Amino acid sequence: MTQPIYVAQPDLPPLEEFLPYLREIWDNKILTNGGPFHQQFEQALCEFLGVEHLSLCSNGTLGLVTALQALGVTGEVITTPYSFVASAHSLLWNRIQPVFVDIDPATLTLDPAKIEAAITPRTSAILAVHCYGHRCEVEAIQSIADKHGLKVIYDAAHAFGVRDTKGSVLRHGDLSVLSFHATKVFHTFEGGAIVCPDAHTKQHVDHLKNFGFVNETTVVEAGINGKMSEVNAAFGLLQLRHIQSSLARRRQVDAAYREALSGVAGIRLLQGAGELEVNYSYFPVLVEANFPISRDALYEKLRAHSIFARRYFYPLIANFPMYKDLPSAQAGNLLEANAAANKVLCLPIYSALSLQDVTRIVNIVRGA
Ligand SMILES: *Cc1c(COP(=O)(O)O)cnc(C)c1O
Repeated sequence: MTQPIYVAQPDLPPLEEFLPYLREIWDNKILTNGGPFHQQFEQALCEFLGVEHLSLCSNGTLGLVTALQALGVTGEVITTPYSFVASAHSLLWNRIQPVFVDIDPATLTLDPAKIEAAITPRTSAILAVHCYGHRCEVEAIQSIADKHGLKVIYDAAHAFGVRDTKGSVLRHGDLSVLSFHATKVFHTFEGGAIVCPDAHTKQHVDHLKNFGFVNETTVVEAGINGKMSEVNAAFGLLQLRHIQSSLARRRQVDAAYREALSGVAGIRLLQGAGELEVNYSYFPVLVEANFPISRDALYEKLRAHSIFARRYFYPLIANFPMYKDLPSAQAGNLLEANAAANKVLCLPIYSALSLQDVTRIVNIVRGA
């Protein structure tokens, strides 16, 4: 019996490499609240990512909740239904009404051509997602935002390390939010970060993630507890030492899939990196109508071989019970997003996935 293969497998460096970090925490007895590892990790991440300022947080979801609070976003926010449910949930946690706009079928990110029709006097921001690490159409989104006086927040949970020709994609918009959940390309077990354009904004975010405390006795806003602990920050520092080799392995897996699947009728691949430096975080395939079996039948077939591909993102956020009655959630408004939710299958990709296993997975797909 072969080992099951899951869609993602977290990188874990040898335990011995982590023990010195733990010893240091045990020695200095600083466990959280912006301790030494937290500070070192923020600095090291800024250097690796090529950004000036960021604030660590306990997970990406609280990062999104805090980013919206920091920007004073209220009323309605335009967002994509094709994402992980936390994107829209972060709006509900701020009592903001999500307004879903359809995606571009080529990139599976928010379609800028459809944004303006959804803007109302209550709209205060656009929350877009760099889906599977593919950069949103940032220039078009920014020009719409500028024209209508809207804030722009990027859910960059998939976009760790993604760069375009001018630098990190995380520099776009007013704030970008990363997730370091165990299933992501770069993880700290749980964790996340808010990328900020300047020191003043970072300080504001630092206060908001610590209950709104600005000093020992002064609380200025109803902030949340979104702090990252020293153990997670130390683990992040260790992970950063291994990230380049991990990304290089993912690049091999991605290339092997692309080569083996490119000629298969009925299987559509999303475009490659192009001008971007991407992170190979997911390997989505679109199972089109001319493929011999349905997307769900392929998913079941792989399962029968203990290969656990995932239907990210199915169901569509707009079809979950807390969203489905919104006018913008109706299927007629979201034709491309519904189509994608019914076609996409994310195949396993992680640094430890062998090329033999890639071949085995591809052969099952080709033999369908
Ligand atoms: C993982 C993910 C999140 C949530 O991040 P957590 O760190 O798990 O809270 C938000 N948005 C997207 C698109 C994600 O993939």
